[in-house]
Amino acid sequence: MKLTYFKLILLIFSSSLTWGQEVFEREHLVHIRSKNRLIQEKKTLKDLTDEKCFEGKYFKIVRQTDKQAICLEQDPELVFKAANVYYHLTLAREFYQNLQIPNSNLDRKITIRIEQDRQYSETLQFRGEMFSQANGALTIGPSEDHIAHDHYSWNEEIWFFVKKRVTRANPLRQAARVVNQREFKNAISGNLLLYDFVKVINSWTSGQLNAYRLEFHLYSMLFTVAAVELMPRVISLFGLFPQVYFEDTAMIPEVIYHEYGHIALDHVFGHKMSSHLSEGYPNLFAGMIAQRDRLAGNNRGVARGTQAKRANARGLYSLTEEFVQNAAFGSFTYALLTDIQENLGEEGLPILIAALKHLSHQSNLKKDFPRAILRAADEISQNPRAAKLRINQSLKKRGL
Ligand SMILES: [Zn+2]
Repeated sequence: MKLTYFKLILLIFSSSLTWGQEVFEREHLVHIRSKNRLIQEKKTLKDLTDEKCFEGKYFKIVRQTDKQAICLEQDPELVFKAANVYYHLTLAREFYQNLQIPNSNLDRKITIRIEQDRQYSETLQFRGEMFSQANGALTIGPSEDHIAHDHYSWNEEIWFFVKKRVTRANPLRQAARVVNQREFKNAISGNLLLYDFVKVINSWTSGQLNAYRLEFHLYSMLFTVAAVELMPRVISLFGLFPQVYFEDTAMIPEVIYHEYGHIALDHVFGHKMSSHLSEGYPNLFAGMIAQRDRLAGNNRGVARGTQAKRANARGLYSLTEEFVQNAAFGSFTYALLTDIQENLGEEGLPILIAALKHLSHQSNLKKDFPRAILRAADEISQNPRAAKLRINQSLKKRGL
């Protein structure tokens, strides 16, 4: 009995005192997923080193370009956001701790900027006030010694930009312009009408034309005219509505997991360049943390007009996957990695992690990645031949 009490006291003592630094826990409302919706729920924030502010052993949450952490007495909306970011970053960190990726440094203390509205500068950290930025998130690397002077230097940081409503022309507008052209309409209706006309003539010459058939083809022709004349008008009507886009990334769990992935994997991919692999790996892991196969979809109220990344996206490899735009916003690599992981079963995750050792920010998807993953299978699989066969299956399926 005495021993149990002793253990209990020891447990409390050791959990609140780590490395001589006192840490706190605090309950806060955060966003969590319930099926496909984001709902608010009370969760415990761990490893806080400040009783009243959002500063902990691993994360310091600040507003915009501030130096000090956000504190409880500040705007409730800001506090909610800070708590949300802190909570999900902690989840991500614990997940990566369990992955045990060699050389991954998860014990650094990272500054997190929410409501950031400034562009990033490699020399000054923040560009001037004229250079504003909104929507989206960014992970930055530490300042380089030769660039930043002492008081300008900074370490790795994650920025969640301020949400801003942006409208852009509806892509249907362009489509409407095409389908409303007389030539286009004539070509379509001409072909369809001709089809019915030929059918009627054929039936007639073969003596099979009856009232029912005639009526059918007349209706069909009527429908053709109505569709070809009306549909373009409907399309142009919808094209008049501009598309609305905004994104409050600090409120979307999967975006937070993704950004933390850039920190956990920066010994492999760095921060300078965004590539299919440097974006695909964090997406794979973000999906595992979130236990979803859709990243950053279903974000009513928090984001609009954004494209979800899908683990089951189809599509074959094309050269465009290698470049920034597709790499950062596409689903190709995420789907490819998911496919390999599932195809390999239990060995999937260890092999994908082992492949990281053979990758860098310069690795391309077409040649370097297959080489790295096959090599990893050779190194750690119980049955390398079978594993490589499965990997090749997955690669082939996606045109690699
Ligand atoms: Zn990214």
